[in-house]
Amino acid sequence: MTRALTTLLSLAAADALGAATEFKSPERIRAEYGETFTDYQPGSVFGFAPGEATDDSQMVAATLLGYGRREGLNGVRTALREWLAAGPPDVGILTRSALGAGTLDGGVRAWQASAYNSAGNGGLMRIAAVWIAGFRGAELARESAGVTALTHADPRCVYASVFLTAWLEALDGGQAYGAAAESALKLTDDFDARAALLDAGIFGVDTREAHTAFRDRERGARAEVRARVRAGLGGHLTSQSGYVLDTLEAAVRHAGADTWMGCVQPAVLLGDDSDTVACVVGAIAGARGLAVPPGLLPALRLGHSWPGWERRWPCTEHLPGVVTGAQRP
Ligand SMILES: [Mg+2]
Repeated sequence: MTRALTTLLSLAAADALGAATEFKSPERIRAEYGETFTDYQPGSVFGFAPGEATDDSQMVAATLLGYGRREGLNGVRTALREWLAAGPPDVGILTRSALGAGTLDGGVRAWQASAYNSAGNGGLMRIAAVWIAGFRGAELARESAGVTALTHADPRCVYASVFLTAWLEALDGGQAYGAAAESALKLTDDFDARAALLDAGIFGVDTREAHTAFRDRERGARAEVRARVRAGLGGHLTSQSGYVLDTLEAAVRHAGADTWMGCVQPAVLLGDDSDTVACVVGAIAGARGLAVPPGLLPALRLGHSWPGWERRWPCTEHLPGVVTGAQRP
């Protein structure tokens, strides 16, 4: 199996572990499941069965199916809309509103409608797809910015994603955890996401005000991403909330452990947006080459059917084709 495929299985397995504890407090999780959490469990608030991964992994797969259309960002947007139109059990508020617009600038418009306040983790949670699809270097950064802004155009969301995909690339290249993070931060600091979004047609004449808002906030956003990554590297964790920088910091904090379960289990046990934090941790652990415990793979499913995917399909059998289909010949 390629590192791209093992990373995809890793993030999905982590998400499926977190599905049972999403929105719960650590106290309730310990009362319900005990002190350890190493296998899929019932109890998902969205009704996911044990072994079913949530919207995070589903949107990673949908993004890969979108790349398989060979229509660039429009193909990704179309595939995400097909996923949404099939009525998934859980959809983020901004994601629903952005994809509902039906244009490339839907994410920008949704951000504008939030008075430039919305900065959820709905872009970060699915952005590993871009690295899994085979983008690398400057192209990876541009694609990461564009795919994030399809639903989450706040610069904190965009730069968090640019950082994460650059980090996955550096980790896959064999750099040590902290050194890889520092080189990804350097790349993030040097990257002009606003220009990338203009080139991609995500900012345009109709969204000039949002473009100005992005420009005014991007230096601060880069600084916040840097501060939160370094805090996470130092062992700090603010919260596992759905705020993109909380999710990023928590994932950085967890994903440096020696084993796959050592990375993922703390995210699952802390609850709140545990499936998303676990999913991001799973992506990082996968890029590091940490192996998913083999016992977690046979039962792994994505908890939704949409054009291109069936809920009953074993991930081990059907995700390989999704990865190959997304990668350019
Ligand atoms: Mg989820």
